[in-house]
This record gives sequence, C-alpha cells and structure tokens, in this order.
Amino acid sequence: MTSSSGELRPGRFAGRVALVTGAAGGQGEAEVRAFAAEGASVMVADVLADQAGEVAADLRRHGHEAVAVLLDVADEGQWTDAVDECSARFGRLDVLVNNAGIGDAKGVVDQGERGWDRVMAVNVWGPLVGMRTAAPLMARSGGGAIINVSSMAGMTGYDHAAYTASKWALRGLTRSASRELADAGIRVNSVHPGVIITPMTAHFGLDVIHHYSRMNANRRPGTPDEIVGMVLHLASREASFTTGAEVAVDGGFLAAGANRALELAVSRGEGDP
Ligand code: NAD
Repeated sequence: MTSSSGELRPGRFAGRVALVTGAAGGQGEAEVRAFAAEGASVMVADVLADQAGEVAADLRRHGHEAVAVLLDVADEGQWTDAVDECSARFGRLDVLVNNAGIGDAKGVVDQGERGWDRVMAVNVWGPLVGMRTAAPLMARSGGGAIINVSSMAGMTGYDHAAYTASKWALRGLTRSASRELADAGIRVNSVHPGVIITPMTAHFGLDVIHHYSRMNANRRPGTPDEIVGMVLHLASREASFTTGAEVAVDGGFLAAGANRALELAVSRGEGDP
C-alpha cells in the first residue's frame, strides 16, 4: 500500500504495537492498515465489532499481527478490557490513536442535552479515559506516542455546536496530557483534519464535499491516506521532540478559507474587488 502523502516505510514500526480506535472504517482503518504495513502489531478497536474483525482478519491474511477488539470509547470498562487484551497478546503498547469520533449536526439553538452528552462522551471523555488507561502499559513499554484526532472545527467556529466544542476540548486535553505524561516518556499531539472523504462525510454527498472544499487553499477535499502520513509521522521517533503540538491537515482551509470565500463571492458578482 502506498500513501498519496508519501510512500509507506516498511519496518519503521517493527516491534511496536499500535492501538487505533474507530479502526473499522474511514481514517482509522487507513491508519491501522498503514501501521501494520510499516511493521507494527495492531489492535483494531471499534464499536462495530464485526467490521473491526474483518479488518483484522484481512491484515492477518496479509501476514500482519492484528487483533480486533470491541471498544465503545465512552465505556471505561471496555477500555480496561482492550488494554488488558493488548498486554496479554503483545506485552506492550507504543502508540495510541484516539481517532473515533461522532458528529451531531445541530447548532447552539437546537442542540439537545442527550446529543450533547453523547458527542462529549465519545469525542472527549473517550480519549481521556483511553489515555489514562493506556498510559501505564505505554510507560512500561518505555514510553510512546498518543495522537488525538480533533478537527479543523477544533481550531475555528463551525455550525455543529457540540462537535465543535468537543474538538476544542480535545485540543485542550491534548495539551494537558502532553505535560502530564511527558515524565512517562509519552508524547501527546493532536491532528486537525479538514474535509476528508470518509463514511462520516460521504452521506453529505460528493457534490457537497467538493463544494465546501473550494474554501481550501488547494480547492479539494483530502483522503484518509493524507491524514495517515501525519499520524504516522507523529507516532514515529522522527517526531521525538514534538509534543503538545496541534497540526492542521486541512488543505489550507484555515490559512486561506476567508480569501477563497471572497474570491468565490467576487466570481459570483457579489462585490467589486
Ligand atoms: P467515520 O465515521 O468514517 O469513522 C469513524 C469510526 O469510528 C467508525 O468505524 C465508527 O464505527 C467508529 N466509532 C464511532 N463511535 C465510536 C465509539 N463510541 N467507539 C469506538 N468507535 C466508534 O469517521 P472519519 O471521517 O474516519 O473520522 C475519524 C476522526 O476524524 C473523527 O474523530 C472525526 O471527528 C475526525 N474528523 C473527520 C473529518 C472528515 O472530514 N471526515 C474532518 C475532521 C475531523
């Protein structure tokens, strides 16, 4: 497998173990497959146990070490079971990717308490519990790297209120954890994807995805492989001095979005530059 953001590097993660949440599909599946391709043993964790099992079985058919585990990240007991399983199977844990996340397409006025609580439970509480449950095993493994998958919504305003608040919260949690876990040799960073074509966004339709991507500097949506490159870099020893960092992988939306919007308005005849 190759990545559109660069060739994968077989052997970079040899002897190491990576646990990815939400790994049954979308970006998480791309990440867990890339870790395996680069030599890691992987834990394929997802609330969709059957699909996670299919990903792990496919990886094993291709000669990789992969174990599927049922994990609703909002459930602390399931986190304990997943990390225990990782310890029993592989004896160590080097990389945790808190990738699982959900949305709720409500604004401030319409957001209900139940939807708010579920988004916060999955997108914020889940990574917090994951970090504290995994950290002791990672520390016993000599340290490691945690990557929290936030969003460009965690760096700007967005009309999905709970989702945006949760991704900002995850950004703050990442900074706190980077300080707290540094003495255990664990680096903690956040990745902030822009619009990426995955099952999460596919239901909006490709037309809509491409419509919003016109705001990116490069005027196109991203692919899961283009997030993979950054996640694996942050997990690797090449990033040994990087902790508490927030990396936008957004096609230049944050840098250029306002300017692109102005261009589009002018091209529609709304204003004279
Ligand atoms: P996706 O919906 O395609 O896949 C998410 C995976 O997480 C699924 O396999 C799902 O079963 C799993 N999942 C959902 N709830 C879970 C839970 N409680 N416990 C464990 N697993 C659970 O999503 P994606 O687009 O691949 O997004 C991955 C991450 O990237 C999310 O955190 C998302 O918020 C973030 N993100 C996505 C985009 C985008 O445009 N796709 C943009 C910015 C940020």
